[in-house]
Amino acid sequence: MTITSGTARLMVGVCTTTGRYREHNEDNFYVPGVGTIHSLTPAALASARMPAAPIDESTAGEPASGVAAALDNLFIVADGMGGQLAGEQASQLAVELIPKELRGRLEPDDDDRKVQGAVRMAVASANREIIAQSHVMPEYTNMGTTVVLALFRRDRAYIAGIGDSRVYRLREGEIQKLTRDHDLASALIDAGTIKPDEAEHHRFRNVLYLYLGSPDARDGPDDVRVVDVRPGDKFLLTSDGLTGVVRDSVMADFLKRHADPQESAQALVQHALVSDSRDNVTCVVIHAE
Ligand code: CA
Repeated sequence: MTITSGTARLMVGVCTTTGRYREHNEDNFYVPGVGTIHSLTPAALASARMPAAPIDESTAGEPASGVAAALDNLFIVADGMGGQLAGEQASQLAVELIPKELRGRLEPDDDDRKVQGAVRMAVASANREIIAQSHVMPEYTNMGTTVVLALFRRDRAYIAGIGDSRVYRLREGEIQKLTRDHDLASALIDAGTIKPDEAEHHRFRNVLYLYLGSPDARDGPDDVRVVDVRPGDKFLLTSDGLTGVVRDSVMADFLKRHADPQESAQALVQHALVSDSRDNVTCVVIHAE
């Protein structure tokens, strides 16, 4: 699918799978023209080799402008947690509410500071709703979700995340992680308590201290990063079903290899399964041209 964002044209691919070990897919995503997991057919969801078809070509076309364009350039991955259906509900709420909340907060000529504020408030609002539903509905008690988003406007991308899903950028062959992980093992690295290579198998690696659905996330992401976007840049939004089993350098190889972002997203998900990921896996790949 093609989207026009300011000077850059964006090509997008998305793939998600329940994987081989889980009964439910608690991951979710938002991609303009594709929507969320609820918009996909069960057949597409059941297979790791999701056909290249979940892209609605009808949304491609004329350069859009203003607020509509801002939302046409929003991409989200969310990875839910909680018992039974709670994780699915939390990640679904994140990918539904954040675009809706952003729509009402963005103006065409917002400067960086205003866009960053709008992103923070939209995520904070989704956080409130997830907490509210988890209090009211017993089946959703203690539900939570990670979230990462990339909003492309003009020649920039606004990147934010809560939890341990990640956003990467590949530029001139180099891969760079643009988000911070909010798990306890990463916090111990930051504090100098453990070394990075100790974190890989640390028992706190999957324990999140910040996620959507927790009171600590009430103000949204503390850091909404602003990065420039150049033709040739490739972005990857992904859940830990991929990053837990595949190294950054290998992800970079896949991103480099494929000219088609849909092929890239599918190949990355497939490689996570081959690498024995025991989790749901979701990848959104965006090429700036
Ligand atoms: Ca996960």
